[in-house]
Amino acid sequence: MSDVKSIAVRAPAKVNLQLGVGGRRADGYHELASVFLTVSLFDRITLTPAEELRVTVGGVRAAGVPADGSNIAARAVDLLAKRSGLHPGVHVHIDKCIPVQGGMAGGSADAAGALVGCNALWNLGIGRADLVELAAELGSDVPFSVLGGAAFGSGRGERLTVLPVGATTHWVFATAGFGLSTPAVFAEVERRRKDAGRPWAADDIPSPRVSRRLVDALAGGDTAALADALSNDLEPVATSMRPELARTLKTGTEAGALAGVLCGSGATIGFLVADRNAARTVAQGLLASGTCASAHVADGPVPGPEPEETITTGESA
Ligand code: ATP
Repeated sequence: MSDVKSIAVRAPAKVNLQLGVGGRRADGYHELASVFLTVSLFDRITLTPAEELRVTVGGVRAAGVPADGSNIAARAVDLLAKRSGLHPGVHVHIDKCIPVQGGMAGGSADAAGALVGCNALWNLGIGRADLVELAAELGSDVPFSVLGGAAFGSGRGERLTVLPVGATTHWVFATAGFGLSTPAVFAEVERRRKDAGRPWAADDIPSPRVSRRLVDALAGGDTAALADALSNDLEPVATSMRPELARTLKTGTEAGALAGVLCGSGATIGFLVADRNAARTVAQGLLASGTCASAHVADGPVPGPEPEETITTGESA
């Protein structure tokens, strides 16, 4: 029996500090202005050499995550193998903690973890910038999920500029008992624009711009100013699709959060708080109110995915 080397990677979720939504482009994507921040809510991806590519999913949020080739982590392994001329013989195990359809880029985090992990497993030595570029082929949020930290994303969110962060920010993430599909939320944005007779095509709407106020607050470590500058253009749409989310937002701010903001296209709400003590109080208030399914305390930014450990076992995968 030969030893098997496994690589484990912790891959963080993200929160959008800003999500500006412009018009729909000819390729179906919307022009976005995204300010991303990675937070300490992680999936764990373990990669073990195997005969064929296969996926298993466990952990508290495994429900609804495909355990086949359609899993975005499997697609990431396949893509990297193809580019490197290798056979994608890997068992990908995902320990799922990031909310599914929660707007926190959980799938993108898993894809990023798989790219970084296979790079290490196969000793490819590909630099982070090249992995970021490759990641754009998998999805709009995957490049940032490879990079981590804080960044501004333009285009469909994949053209990244690293942003400086002056102080650690503290958060509570309130999950909903349901998910929101990203395509469904964007379709609703467009339906509303058309119904209101407003322009909806990217050619007819100026591209959304990054908020200077937000970038300055982030760089200066000014949490109060940051709270004031948080914004997500999808929030009014998501809260009208699921009015429960408006109640969660109100409850969190009443419990002491500085501000609440919809994560991506929902359905998780992120609450920015002053410090860890405030985070605990807000999390308890949210849970006691029954307006969310769970509440997680987290900090950000955290680094992007890094190979965490190498396990040597006597068993093949
Ligand atoms: P984003 O914030 O990037 O819009 P999200 O966090 O709202 O995404 P995800 O949890 O990443 O949404 O997944 C959306 C859908 O993708 C799921 O409903 C699931 O069917 C599919 N999927 C494929 N691979 C994964 C994965 N590894 N983890 C979660 N979902 C996955």
